[in-house]
Amino acid sequence: MSVKIRLLCLQGDGIGPEIMQATLAVLQAAARRFDLDLQLTHADIGFAALAQQGSTIPAKVIAQAKSADGVILGPVSHNAYPPVSEGGLNPSGVLRRELELYANIRPARARKGTPRPIAAQIDLIIVRENLEGFYADRNMASGSGEILVEPGVAIALRKITSRGSARIAEAAFALAANRPRTRVTTIHKANVLRISDGLFLAEVRTVASRYPQVVHDEMLVDAAAAHLVRDPARFDVVLATNMFGDILSDLACEIAGGLGLGASLNLGPDYAVAQAQHGSAPDIAGQDRANPSSLIGSVAMLLRHLGAQAAADAIECALDAALSTAVTRTPDLGGALGTQAFANWISTFILEH
Ligand code: ATP
Repeated sequence: MSVKIRLLCLQGDGIGPEIMQATLAVLQAAARRFDLDLQLTHADIGFAALAQQGSTIPAKVIAQAKSADGVILGPVSHNAYPPVSEGGLNPSGVLRRELELYANIRPARARKGTPRPIAAQIDLIIVRENLEGFYADRNMASGSGEILVEPGVAIALRKITSRGSARIAEAAFALAANRPRTRVTTIHKANVLRISDGLFLAEVRTVASRYPQVVHDEMLVDAAAAHLVRDPARFDVVLATNMFGDILSDLACEIAGGLGLGASLNLGPDYAVAQAQHGSAPDIAGQDRANPSSLIGSVAMLLRHLGAQAAADAIECALDAALSTAVTRTPDLGGALGTQAFANWISTFILEH
């Protein structure tokens, strides 16, 4: 019996359209190979939606996202959008908030043959809190978490809650309990942010006490940056508040081979959104040079979450094969294949294995 999966595709800005096209080619191949009954719906966000509908994320897109089994979200150029009052909302932030996507799961794993010297030692997953912290666009019920007190004086508020800390800790420990190394490293700056990171750590320790089989250690964020470069193999699951997790995951991703490999899944109690870790890379947009591995890997994570394990495994296996040699890599990793040719190679591999 075929598995029915309804996905909403939001291609976004910059390299979004080309990595979405590549990802959907791979997804269709996996659907054929594993008899998935795939139903894809497309909607505009970003500059395309702004031009036609006056908003970078129209309300109907949020409703469509809520009625799908999952969403594939392309990167967006929100830094270049006009102010919110002119329709320039950050689609990624809005979706995270509206769909209550409190966990951002960001793996960084070296694949065989990846052209970076320290890459071979890295295989970790960053579990990043997604709705609080220093994110001024989503941590207030109304208004912004950033305030211009007077010209020359600005304040940014960092929100940490017991509930938010406990549920992201639960996500990290549950994940670690099912990995071979069963270790969680919690990242903080409680020596400076004594109250907020103190609260975060207290909740994490309570959750840790319910997982005696998981080794737990705690590390200051600055030390974590150094340790990631010096000895990435010491990390398994890395638990972090929003902004620390965002910054460390770009670092981990580069150590593993480059931003073009950075897959991620946003998760909440009811919804899941596949999204590459990187931005819209306007410097290479429209040149068929972007590496779509990030979004392809994100879709594999989404399929696994939706119960399509065999299709997810096959995509991962094909990515491993393509990335193992320069002949079948994209230019960011020293290869010669364009974005779509890379996707075609992966699709063929899936259909033939
Ligand atoms: P944005 O304004 O949307 O954040 P950005 O270019 O400032 O875009 P990223 O998109 O994260 O930030 O890109 C950082 C660098 O990594 C750029 O040089 C970009 O070309 C490169 N890069 C990002 N994603 C990819 C990719 N999928 N394939 C190849 N290079 C990439």
